[in-house]
Amino acid sequence: MSIDQALIEKITLEILMKMQTEKAPSSCDGGIFDTVDEAVAAARKAYQELRTLSLETRETLIKAMRDVAYKNATLLAQMAVDESGMGRVSDKIIKNQLAAQKTPGTEDLTTQAWSGDSGLTLIEMGPYGVIGAITPTTNPTETVICNGIGMIAAGNAVFFSPHPTAKNTSMKIIRLLNEAIVKAGGPNNLLTSVADPSITAANEMMKHPGINMLVATGGPGVVKAVLSSGKKAIGAGAGNPPVIVDETADIEKAARDIVAGCSFDNNLPCIAEKEVIAVGCIADQLITYMQKYGAYLISGSNIDRLLEVVMTVKEEKMAEGCTDKPKKSYGISKDYVGKDAKYILSKIGIDVPDSVRVVLCETPADHPFVIEELMMPILPVVQVKDIDAAITLAVKVEHGNRHTAVMHSKNVDHLTRFARAVETTIFVKNAPSYAGIGVGGEGFTTFTIAGPTGEGLTSPRSFTRQRRCVLVDAFSIV
Ligand code: NAD
Repeated sequence: MSIDQALIEKITLEILMKMQTEKAPSSCDGGIFDTVDEAVAAARKAYQELRTLSLETRETLIKAMRDVAYKNATLLAQMAVDESGMGRVSDKIIKNQLAAQKTPGTEDLTTQAWSGDSGLTLIEMGPYGVIGAITPTTNPTETVICNGIGMIAAGNAVFFSPHPTAKNTSMKIIRLLNEAIVKAGGPNNLLTSVADPSITAANEMMKHPGINMLVATGGPGVVKAVLSSGKKAIGAGAGNPPVIVDETADIEKAARDIVAGCSFDNNLPCIAEKEVIAVGCIADQLITYMQKYGAYLISGSNIDRLLEVVMTVKEEKMAEGCTDKPKKSYGISKDYVGKDAKYILSKIGIDVPDSVRVVLCETPADHPFVIEELMMPILPVVQVKDIDAAITLAVKVEHGNRHTAVMHSKNVDHLTRFARAVETTIFVKNAPSYAGIGVGGEGFTTFTIAGPTGEGLTSPRSFTRQRRCVLVDAFSIV
């Protein structure tokens, strides 16, 4: 071998080894790793790096995240609908843009101070570390954008456990956000996940010692799972938002608002109107107006047929010799969650134009459409005799979720009575439900509404620990 050849081989080997070591962890790909261990380790490293950066830099990173999410709002909306088979692209674009623009940043972190003879005491909002965030299939990208901005603004890194049915879309937004952060001068892997998300991976993440806090956005199962984890957890769970319309409401406006809120993203948002409770004398007028604004009324056997199509029924097994009628329990057929009203109606042989956005039906108060959280643009209307009956029923069908309720009324006493009785995190008066998350209503947005654990509409401060810093006998000039 000539000297030149030996030198070339040595240099080549050195380059290869350098490339190998620089690749660690070996499977790194825009925050997406093969294993939970690798993803948590990378997030922990990113968290330590973020700790060294100023708040001003943190805000620069947040701006980069907002920009890339806003720029890709349409692509992400299309991907989410294609992959999950749920929702409306045009509405998902609005949700992505909303999360990008109206999720609070570092300005949400405030400091409390006491000064006096003994000096100065501060309470500051510090990060938790690495947060394990579990996200739903119904709002896959908007939850990652919103949680990502909020959690990083609070100084944390995040491991995301997305729903497997929206995994590619979720990975896409995680990669985009990571790339934007790195481009803006921030650490790599502030957001991580695993390439193959599953409930097993989510459980491994929840138990991982490198995860400091859990945030679950989803149904009752996942909220229960995080609250049983032994770690600090925020649970943002299911809703079944009732809407009351009383005799003092502007009935035409109420009808328009209810159709708009109920049909937004085909009823996927947890805050969307799920059942209408109408004080008797106005019910017919309300139904007529709802038809004017895009609802299609079905009745009689069509309601029964629709129930058979969109819900699953289980009959309780009765003890031998028992002559009672078996109790039925209902579940949701996932095939119809977030589907267009036109598609749902076609399954019972009714053909309607694309402009129809909601399937409307009058039902008794105990109908499964009223009791269950359907997450489809099917809206039952229940007539009741007066406001007392309306409030009692609305509280019952909200199931103590303390999530969202809506009321159309001009009677301040009625509004106050319902708000007090239902105790929901969000209470919207005389507007579509989405006004409660900042669309056409004042205030910031969130896609993680924590009723069960009480943080309410989560924002960066929800993802912080309170820390007290005391300086005795100085820094007080009073
Ligand atoms: P889901 O509960 O099926 O799934 C949510 C997430 O939890 C997914 O990532 C899933 O993989 C994971 N998961 C589910 N069960 C789990 C378990 N036992 N252990 C670990 N992980 C588990 O919900 P979904 O269908 O994706 O979303 C719809 C539900 O979420 C509705 O009930 C809706 O009201 C609710 N939701 C609530 C909010 C809120 O802010 N409160 C926001 C969006 C959706």
